[in-house]
Formats: sequence, structure tokens, C-alpha cells
Amino acid sequence: MSGAAAWPAGHRSALVISIDVDGPYGEINHHGADDSYWWSQAEYDLHAGIWRLFEILRDRDVQASFCWVGRSVEDRPDAVERAEADGHEHAIHSWDHRYYASMSYDEQFEDAARTIEAIEAVAGVRPGGHKSPAWRFNDHTSKVVQALGLDWQMDYARADLPWIERPDPAGAPLVQLPPSRFYDDYTYFVDWTVNPRNAAEFWRDDLDILRAEGKLMCLTLHPWVSGRPGPSTALANLLDYAIGVGDIWIAQAGHVAKWWLDRSGEGD
Ligand SMILES: [Zn+2]
Repeated sequence: MSGAAAWPAGHRSALVISIDVDGPYGEINHHGADDSYWWSQAEYDLHAGIWRLFEILRDRDVQASFCWVGRSVEDRPDAVERAEADGHEHAIHSWDHRYYASMSYDEQFEDAARTIEAIEAVAGVRPGGHKSPAWRFNDHTSKVVQALGLDWQMDYARADLPWIERPDPAGAPLVQLPPSRFYDDYTYFVDWTVNPRNAAEFWRDDLDILRAEGKLMCLTLHPWVSGRPGPSTALANLLDYAIGVGDIWIAQAGHVAKWWLDRSGEGD
């Protein structure tokens, strides 16, 4: 497959901005509810960080894919409403950030369905995709995502291009969009703390290579991390670069998934 043929006319590569709105629940799940150090840091998510990210995206007319934890939706429906008003896409990121890796099919199905309902009740539209909490998923997960009628999943990091799966051969096609820990703000600003200019430089350099190869970058950001002033400049810097290059398709995950289905002849 030639790189030039992979994307809509005039585009050499694609960039997806996905934003996981964990609220405090990611850190509560990871460190425990009694570890106030972590969950209080992550409360920045919905109180401050997400609002700064909304402004950065709006200033550049970029539509992102917001992966909501259900309890974040309950806590701050106004954030979901703002995302909807700004034209962003909605996706699910579990009810309370418990790891899907240790859950049965039925537990995952119930958890994901509940999250879909919460988003739909506020946004008025059904979410289109799924990302597992902390990328801890198991063999049931894609079956659940497919059974719930979602179009895409962003869990498997094994490639630089999307691919199509049918976990249930009789079911609808499911587009896999590959994330990477190297395109995750946690790696730069939580696991380590680097200068945001260095994070932006890393991402720009990778984007150059992916563009030359005709491939896809899926960025994963968290409002409590990338919504902080310094780290927010890494996103702004990357977007300004990608916009300036002129032939990078900055698209919502759902649009990339639909494109991939259409070009494969599997779209509706
Ligand atoms: Zn998360």
C-alpha cells in the first residue's frame, strides 16, 4: 500500500488528538482512595485542565476525541456539553477507571453500556469509540466494543496504521486505532517530568517520520496533565506544527475509523 493512498486527498498522514477525562478516578483506582496526593492532583482535570484544552483546540479549530470516564460525566456534565458545543467527538473510557483486564465479558459490557448511556444523556449523541482504562484490557474487550456498536477501539499499540477486525465474525467491522505510550502525556509529565519543549520536539520528530511513511499518530492526553500551563504548550506546539505543514489530516478518531472502513470497502 502506498502512503499517499492511505488518507483523504491531499493528506500524507493523519493525527488524532484523544483526551482521556479520568477526573480523579484514574489515580484513585491506581493509588487507592486514601492516597490524597494523587487524586487531589488529578482533580485539576475537570476543574481547570479541560477548560484550557478546550481553548487551545478552539483557537486552532481542531476537533478532538474525548474519552470520558462515566463518573467524570456525572461530576461535570458541563464539560461534556462544552465538548459537544465545540464539535468534539465522544468516546468511552470506562465507568470509574477500573481495569478491564481483570473484568469478565459481562462486567465490561455492563460498565461500558452504563458509560455510553451517561454520555448520551448529556451530549445527546452516542459515543463512537472506546479506550480501556490505562490500556489494561483483555480478550473480551474488543468483543464488548463491537457488540455495543462502537466503531473504533484505541488499545492495541502494535502498528502505525489502523486495521479492521471482526471479533465476532458475524458482527460489524471494528477499526483498531493504535495508541502509543510515547504519544501519551503521562510518559513525559507523570512518569518523568520533561521540559514541554522536549515533549513537543519528540512528537514533531515522530510526526515527520510518520508523514514520510504515510502513517497515523494518535496522541493521548489527560486534562490534569496536559491542561497544566507548561504541558499545554506541548499540545499547542504540535498542533501549530502539524497545521503549518499543511498536509497532515488532523481528525477525530471516528472520522479516521470511517475513512478506513470506506477505503477498505467495508463502510456503509
Ligand atoms: Zn485513563
